[in-house]
Amino acid sequence: MAETLFTKIINREIPADIVYEDDLCLAFKDINPQAPLHILVIPKKHIERISDADKDEQDLLGHIFLKAGEIAKKNGYGDAFRLVVNNGEDAGQTVFHLHIHILAGRNFAWPPG
Ligand code: AMP
Repeated sequence: MAETLFTKIINREIPADIVYEDDLCLAFKDINPQAPLHILVIPKKHIERISDADKDEQDLLGHIFLKAGEIAKKNGYGDAFRLVVNNGEDAGQTVFHLHIHILAGRNFAWPPG
């Protein structure tokens, strides 16, 4: 599985504005924010896409999802936030290391673009 730049962020080989870290995951500010608050939560384990995850990763996936909710709430916009996971190139995924986008601080349209 090819390393992505998110592995380099985990390994501190390239800089990022890290807002949370534990043994299993890392959260950092998106370099090209699409909302006043735009944070990415990633597992330290390299899983390319949610559709590549398997049953062994159930606890890890639960962990990053719970952390995304906690981090979102703590960063200034209370309960008003959106979590997004793009899966595959046609769905807008550009970095092939699973990540949850936390977006907050503006109104969001539905359906999403
Ligand atoms: P996606 O399009 O869902 O794969 O999201 C990838 C996200 O990674 C985009 O929102 C990018 O702006 C963000 N991104 C790319 N490079 C970096 C970086 N070096 N630091 C922080 N965020 C990045």
